[in-house]
Amino acid sequence: MHLVTLIKGDGIGPSIMDEAVKVIDASGAKIQWEEAHAGLGAHEKFGTPLPDATMASFDKTRVAFKGPLTTIVGTGFRSINVALRQKYELYANVRPAKSWAGVKTRYDDVDIVIVRENTEGLYAGLEHYLTPKKDIAESLAVVTRAGSERIIDYAFKYARENNRQKVTVCHKANILKYTQGLFLDVARETAARYPDIQFDEKIIDAACMHMVMDPKKFDVVVCTNMFGDILSDLTAGLVGGLGLIPGANIGNDAALFEAVHGSAPDIAGKNIANPTAVIMAGAMLLNHLGEHKAANRLIKAVEKVVSEGKYVTPDLNPHSKAGTIEMGNAIVDAME
Ligand code: NAD
Repeated sequence: MHLVTLIKGDGIGPSIMDEAVKVIDASGAKIQWEEAHAGLGAHEKFGTPLPDATMASFDKTRVAFKGPLTTIVGTGFRSINVALRQKYELYANVRPAKSWAGVKTRYDDVDIVIVRENTEGLYAGLEHYLTPKKDIAESLAVVTRAGSERIIDYAFKYARENNRQKVTVCHKANILKYTQGLFLDVARETAARYPDIQFDEKIIDAACMHMVMDPKKFDVVVCTNMFGDILSDLTAGLVGGLGLIPGANIGNDAALFEAVHGSAPDIAGKNIANPTAVIMAGAMLLNHLGEHKAANRLIKAVEKVVSEGKYVTPDLNPHSKAGTIEMGNAIVDAME
């Protein structure tokens, strides 16, 4: 039995996480969920967006399955997602985007994994106003050699272990010569230690153009925090949208699984949010726990339901009458 901290989150979070838990439980994996709270809902209920009990649960389980959290704006609270990633040093954010049979997009053979540095860069949280009038603001991007080495090495190891051919570093070292230059230097050094994996380097703006024109050029992509955040939404767009992309946040002794998308307040409470992204994050969780058979079962069932296009949410099929709950039920029914 695996003990996992479950945070359902805000907005569409509870509805999609209920379906994900239902599907994971049906996959045959033995998981005991320990429910904890975070985000806007926790702030309203307990007066803090990150209660001590939630941290205590994650301290104990070291594995969390999390729905999206609404970022509280203008109250001095920083992003809870960023805080969790930094506290537990969840340095590797892995976001795979793969074309789905049954989801019509411009390309049908996209298979890109974004490996995003998750603890430093421009999201290091070092922001302030320089003047009392608040008319000059400054953000500091922090890139360390140690942080760059561990994420780039993770990307190459990931490529080797998952039979991928190539790692591309996307950077802006031509302008940001110190921070991005350091990241690029480390990428070149690391590539030399992995002669079996092809290495490519692309300037981030050109990378966006190439990715949209010819996604086959990319396999595993590694970049600093903000570039990875933006690029992974781009890859989501290439394969059918945010409702389909899972993410794993991996550290040396803790891991947190979630969707790439946010709490989507515009569609909350309507039973139309696509649960696929969090369900696929559940598959990544199962693989992390060594439950490979259950993960494969779950993935096959999701692929069947998505490719049939009948019991899917309207973002995948505008003619579908099915919603979040019906899609979850269909995935459970599709399990072999
Ligand atoms: P969002 O990802 O919540 O939504 C962007 C668009 O995608 C919206 O139109 C939404 O309806 C749609 N969408 C998202 N998920 C979907 C799904 N599962 N099915 C169908 N459509 C879906 O981004 P946003 O609106 O910029 O952010 C809303 C809140 O979420 C903000 O407070 C933001 O800070 C937060 N956020 C949290 C996380 C996280 O918890 N990891 C990630 C991103 C954003």
